[in-house]
Amino acid sequence: MKDYDIIVVGAGPVGSTYAYKMAKMGYDVALYDMKNRIGHPLQCAGLVSTNIDKTKNLPREFIDNEIQGANLTSPDMTSITVSKQDTAAYVIDRIYYDKYLANRAEDAGVDVFYSTRVYDVDIENTTIKTKDDTYSSDIIAVSCGPNSQTAKKMNPEVEDESFLAMQYIVSTLNEDTSFLDINVNMNILPGFIWSIPVSYREKRVGLFTNGSYTQAEMILNSALKSTDVVVDKSHGIIPRFNPQKCIVKNNTILLGDSASQVKPTTGGGLIAGFNSAQIAAENSDLMLKEHDNNYLLRYEKQYHERYDNEFKTQINVQKILEDLSEDDVNFMFRQLKECQADKIISKYGDMDDQSILIKELIKSGVIFKLLPKIGIRRLKNIWKSQ
Ligand SMILES: Cc1cc2nc3c(=O)[nH]c(=O)nc-3n(C[C@H](O)[C@H](O)[C@H](O)COP(=O)(O)OP(=O)(O)OC[C@H]3O[C@@H](n4cnc5c(N)ncnc54)[C@H](O)[C@@H]3O)c2cc1C
Repeated sequence: MKDYDIIVVGAGPVGSTYAYKMAKMGYDVALYDMKNRIGHPLQCAGLVSTNIDKTKNLPREFIDNEIQGANLTSPDMTSITVSKQDTAAYVIDRIYYDKYLANRAEDAGVDVFYSTRVYDVDIENTTIKTKDDTYSSDIIAVSCGPNSQTAKKMNPEVEDESFLAMQYIVSTLNEDTSFLDINVNMNILPGFIWSIPVSYREKRVGLFTNGSYTQAEMILNSALKSTDVVVDKSHGIIPRFNPQKCIVKNNTILLGDSASQVKPTTGGGLIAGFNSAQIAAENSDLMLKEHDNNYLLRYEKQYHERYDNEFKTQINVQKILEDLSEDDVNFMFRQLKECQADKIISKYGDMDDQSILIKELIKSGVIFKLLPKIGIRRLKNIWKSQ
């Protein structure tokens, strides 16, 4: 007799969402998290596109601000402004949101164990080990963030790549709270610096980079205005998507950051994680009903069908950015401005499905103006991944 139908390791937003969905279907679910305060410390810019509405996973009370557009600035201060007619993205309160998602799972009947670290996941026997005991289940879902030992165990051959992300909470005076700023800094490309207004008095300023902590801190400090006051600092890891990564083995599945279900160009993981949790929940239900664990492999297959092309396109874009010189970046911004690409970006830009915009830039010929800097070979790679 198993202790649970499903054990979930990690009560971050993705694990809590999957646990909730399974409990609502009537399954006996346990959810373990090593933290006693879910959501702390804040390691997120809290920016999600309005596509999150489709997941029906974000009550409006966790939205602090609505964003209509962005000012994108190159190293030589050439600026492009892109915007939607309506809200394009929400700025959310991640700390209370994460707490809410874990509480919602508990209210739906999940046994939630806080301050309980899972020391090992036995993939052969579908058991987990805490400090005091061993527990068994039919499915183990590992959603314990980017540093998952289970993910490493399942992928001994795959080299994990990740970015360092650093963020300050800044007390300031924002004149306009509906536009965020993205600044290109050559030292961290393909990462960038963001400044996201939370309210008239607060913003989140951060960056992601494959450079060092010291360098990140220096760059972030220099991005502040003289009147800004830093009230909190945090840093975390953003995993890089790798299509080779195995996310199902026997009856154990990986979810969220543990599965690198993160947009390569921005590091955003909430929407991809929620969509993957939905695919995993549907197939876990079928597996438990039909006693056939091939349904878990179907989760892996459907996840790849949903995200591989999009994420590969984003990786290719990132590779182009990585190779650009400062002159190249400035040239590209000037070209985009000259041919009024801001209009195309405003119309077709989608924070989650970026290949829609790339197709339009190719169709409209704008991309060919950038060709001297992108190169034919790179353009072909983007084309192939569409
Ligand atoms: C600085 C920064 C800014 C970001 N900004 C955005 C953004 O604006 N928009 C966006 O969509 N995404 C953003 N992300 C990414 C986003 O935060 C992640 O994709 C998201 O948190 C992934 O959720 P998760 O549930 O998979 O994992 P996590 O949120 O990492 O949760 C994992 C949980 O597992 C627990 N855990 C870990 N190991 C164990 C163990 N052994 N036993 C028990 N519990 C364990 C942890 O305590 C944690 O609660 C950002 C990330 C960073 C670092």
